[in-house]
Formats: sequence, structure tokens, C-alpha cells
Amino acid sequence: MNEHDSEKISWVLEGMNYESTDISEEADLIIFNTCAVRKTAEEKVYGQIGELKRLKRENSNLVIAICGCMMQREEVLEIVTTKHRHVDIIFGTNNIHKLPQLINNYEKTGKTVIDIVEENREIDENIEANRKYSFKSYVNIMYGCNNFCTYCIVPYTRGRERSREPENILEEIKKLAETGCKEITLLGQNVNSYGKTLERDYSFADLIKDIDKIDGIERIRFMTSHPKDISDELINLYANMDKLCDHLHLPVQSGSNRMLKLMNRKYTKEDYLKIIDKVKSINPNISITTDIIIGFPGETEEDFNETLELVKEVGFDSAYTFLYSIREGTPAASMEEQVDNKVKNERFQRLMDVLHPFGLEFNEKLLNKTVKVLVEEVSKNNEKILSGRTDSGKLVHFEADESLIGELVDVKINSVKTFTLEGVLV
Ligand code: SF4
Repeated sequence: MNEHDSEKISWVLEGMNYESTDISEEADLIIFNTCAVRKTAEEKVYGQIGELKRLKRENSNLVIAICGCMMQREEVLEIVTTKHRHVDIIFGTNNIHKLPQLINNYEKTGKTVIDIVEENREIDENIEANRKYSFKSYVNIMYGCNNFCTYCIVPYTRGRERSREPENILEEIKKLAETGCKEITLLGQNVNSYGKTLERDYSFADLIKDIDKIDGIERIRFMTSHPKDISDELINLYANMDKLCDHLHLPVQSGSNRMLKLMNRKYTKEDYLKIIDKVKSINPNISITTDIIIGFPGETEEDFNETLELVKEVGFDSAYTFLYSIREGTPAASMEEQVDNKVKNERFQRLMDVLHPFGLEFNEKLLNKTVKVLVEEVSKNNEKILSGRTDSGKLVHFEADESLIGELVDVKINSVKTFTLEGVLV
């Protein structure tokens, strides 16, 4: 979500004749687009802003701005405005379109400009994005979240759920297809509840069916899904819709019903397993990945073992695993029985030991098979090697000419590791 917001910021700035540079000393404007989901990311931002004090001293024309989820948190705003007075512009997640006005205001007055919308957030349909790749793109389909998982800051920083009108989404995707985009990733905090705020009856599955009809789009991905809202209608699309990638990322967070209740996830381990059974029976080759939180407050050894059991039962292809990190302002932050970091780290290692063999097992099934790969870029370590992704999201390296970047090509897999595949172009 933040990456795509940065692409939008870049588009707005290009409209103001800014050019990008990788060299901070050359910049007239430096913007930090921040994320509030994890504490460590927040701490890094403070460190990086602090380092800019020197640049500001050397170049008094330099404008420093901070935006994103962090700025929607009152305590962060307090810290930035009192301890980092060299920051000139502060704006929230919903005011990217106002950036030209905010820069002008600062340039006119020389005073810190703060613009954070708290309520009645409208969706601005006029803003486009300077996309990193022409052949694959993110497309926002909704903003905000109504779920209030007890560990999560997002509903407080991005506001309540709002779905974009399907016509606007489809129009955006058609334009992308016309300029060569082959793969789109639909973005939302909980895409499975897409449509609930629309006045008509139109679901996430309806949206995917309409996107499927757009010529030029070859792959449809989405993130992120909440298990409590996934519909049979969506699951059934995995049976015969070629464009829908064979990949479902379905965050489970824990295998313990007690933890799931404390997290306010509103499903049980049994509900989750039922969904997985349905998905696998419809598409046995699908890659299923997840998110898992380790050391949520009160997590006992027994709770954690239930997570390990669930991982074995599902056989996740891979997982984003997070050591629980306190987010002030969320209910979990004040829960008693916070788990010791040493215990979290030890559980993390045990989880990795259980998870990794499944990833390798999934990849081994691709050995000697020919798979379609969307070629993304030249490998960072070897300019003769290209890398791209399979339908199931696996990273593949193979030797070929860089003119193939952006194309869908056939690659025969001849070597597999836990996280990557290697092959030859056929
Ligand atoms: S559904 Fe996702 S974004 Fe919404 S509160 Fe839960 S974890 Fe946060």
C-alpha cells in the first residue's frame, strides 16, 4: 500500500516538474513515506530524519516532508513537531493530492505545514501513479479497515473501509492494459470485503470476473485477504479462471483459538482449515501463504505448539512471520503477559524449522516442469541473468537477453531452493 502511495507521490511531483535523484545532497525536496505497522520501522524513520539536520544546515532551501501512516498517530506528530523542527511539511495518508498546495504554502510562509485529515476521508480519483514497472501494477480497490484486530494500528491510521466504484477501477486497469501492463495486484487491507460500502450489490468476485474480461491483462493477484470474509464465490474462481494466479495469501496469525479470540480475528482454526480444504480441493496446485504473529501477549507454549500444528496441517508454501511488536493505542499494547523477546526469538526459530521444508517441497514439484514467468529485471549479481515470477509468485532466475523484460516466457526449471528456482528459457 505504501509502495503504491509513493508511486502516486512521485506522479504528483513530476507534475510539478520535480525530477528524482538518488543523491540526498542534490535534492530540493526529501519526502519520507512512513509505515506505522511495526515499531522498528518507526524508530528507523526518527533516525533518518535526524540525519537530515546536517543537510538542512548546508542547504536552507531544502524542504523536508513526512507523510504516511505514522503521521496519523498523535504521539508521533507530537515527537516530530517538537524534536524534529527541521521537518517542514507533514501530511497524512489521504492528502497526497494536496501536496502541491502544501509545498506552495510552505514556500510562501516558511512555516511548518501540517495537514492530516482525521474524518470523512474521500477517495480522490484524479490522482495517478508513476509506476515502477510498466508491465505490472498495483491498483487500489479500497482503503481503510473496519476490523480492529487488537494488535493492529491500521484502522486508526487509514480510517474506515471505503470501496472504490468498480467503473473507476476497471477504467484504470483498461488504461494500464493499453499501455502494456500484463499483471495487476489489487490492493486493499481486506479485499474480501470489497463492495460492502457500495450502494449496489457488487462483490470482490464480481470485480475479478470483470477484470478477467479486459484484453491484455494476463495475471490477476490481490492482497490482503481476511479469512472471515472470503467467499465461496471467490474460491470457486480458482477452478477455471486462468488469469487468476494460483496463489492465495491468507493471513492466519495463530493456530490457537484462544489467541485468535484475543486478536479479535473472528474465525477459529477450524474455520480456517475448512477454507484451505475448499481451496485445495478446487485447485490442488495452488500456493498458499500466510502471515503469523509470534509472541502475541499471553501466548503460551501450548498456543504456539497449536500454531506449529496448523502450519504442518496446511503445509504453507511460505509465510511472513512477525515477532509481536507493541503498537501504542491498540488494545493489545496494554494486555498483560507480554511475551519476553528471548522466548519470541526461540519460537521464531522453531517456526522456521517447521515452515521451510514445505517451501522446498512445493518448489520440488516444479523440477523439470516448464512454467510461465513474467520477466521482471536483470539480476543484481549477474547481468546475464534475468529474474521473474511464476503464476504462484515464485522467483525464477534464468539466462536470457534483457529485451525479454516485461514478457511472459516459458522457463524449464532445473534447480530449486527453498525460496528461488533456476531454469532455462525454452
Ligand atoms: S484486517 Fe488487517 S488491516 Fe484490518 S485491523 Fe486486521 S490486521 Fe489490521
